[in-house]
Amino acid sequence: MAAAAAAAAAASAPVCVLVLGMAGSGKTTFVQRLAAQLHGQRRPPYLINLDPAVPGLPFPANIDIRDTVKYKEVMRQYGLGPNGGIVTSLNLFATRFDQVMKFIEKRQNASKYVIIDTPGQIEVFTWSASGTIITEALASSFPSVVVYVMDTSRSTNPVTFMSNMLYACSILYKTKLPFIVVMNKTDIIDHSFAVEWMQDFETFQDALNQETSYVSNLTRSMSLVLDEFYSSLKVVGVSAVLGTGLDDFFVQLSKAVDEYEREYRPEYERLRKTLEKAQNKQKREQLEHLWKDMGSVCMQDNTLAGSDDASAMGPSELILTRGTLDEEDERESDTDDIDREVTEESHEEPAFRNFMQETRMKYQRSSKANE
Ligand code: GDP
Ligand code: MG
Repeated sequence: MAAAAAAAAAASAPVCVLVLGMAGSGKTTFVQRLAAQLHGQRRPPYLINLDPAVPGLPFPANIDIRDTVKYKEVMRQYGLGPNGGIVTSLNLFATRFDQVMKFIEKRQNASKYVIIDTPGQIEVFTWSASGTIITEALASSFPSVVVYVMDTSRSTNPVTFMSNMLYACSILYKTKLPFIVVMNKTDIIDHSFAVEWMQDFETFQDALNQETSYVSNLTRSMSLVLDEFYSSLKVVGVSAVLGTGLDDFFVQLSKAVDEYEREYRPEYERLRKTLEKAQNKQKREQLEHLWKDMGSVCMQDNTLAGSDDASAMGPSELILTRGTLDEEDERESDTDDIDREVTEESHEEPAFRNFMQETRMKYQRSSKANE
């Protein structure tokens, strides 16, 4: 009976699709295309934007990081450049991701898919504490799949192709989730050359023979290593602009979900139990990492601002999100509710400040309790 109930719950749980890829590979366009297709089938997805720096979105996000964290303000207040601004914005957002999870849970009967667009620079997500917190939060509650979008037209050189695949491989190992490679922009060049390279070692070697550099020798050895990776890889050619290849994508997605249920769910369930048992020890370490990251930025900022209460200040005090909104920046989205839930009576920057203080105190309390 319990097993049947669990299976029924799994069947109705939404699938989280985490869209990763290098800047300009077409992640946002792909998300837009998926959303359009699903809307056309009257199966509207739940859309989340995690790119704080995107100037405009071609799809209506249900949750938009830009509603919560003002990237330009973060840059200014913390004295950061564009990349640091994105990392810090994502860190701030990750500290409230449990609220995002609640929104997803509430919507689980209405949307079969939760699609998450990520920042342009892939490493900001895959190699940051916040990326890990977000990925693990999603994957320990819902079937989750990573979609790695690549620009096929920029991968026609065998050495570049190999670098891209090595990157994909490293992300597979980093995220520990079922993985689909979306070869995008097939309206410019068909992806069959790449599939052939992956399936037929000789063809790839022939292509490499045109290259004589040291790098190509290295690539030759690497491609032997990658053979195993290729053999289990799900690859789809799409054009996000034209909308071709999406049917195949959904077939691969459903296989990836089966794979999650079969191979990954037990692992994530174990992770969840361990986290609960050890009072979120790992999460605390990640948060600690995150606070450290932001703490060092704060020191820098305090020097800049000339504050005389530097040591008492956490990152929270320096962020003024809601209070600095431009009129036209106001958007309707679920993230606005996050602020309202945190403190009913105050709706401007103090709400965010209180939230951050609470988070920090909770974190300190649990650190002490575990000592
Ligand atoms: P992101 O940085 O990964 O989110 O990439 P974007 O979705 O913003 O796309 C980057 C650029 O690639 C934009 O100019 C898009 O119009 C273009 N693009 C995206 N998908 C395709 C595609 O399927 N075909 C072509 N030709 N261009 C595309
Ligand atoms: Mg984008």
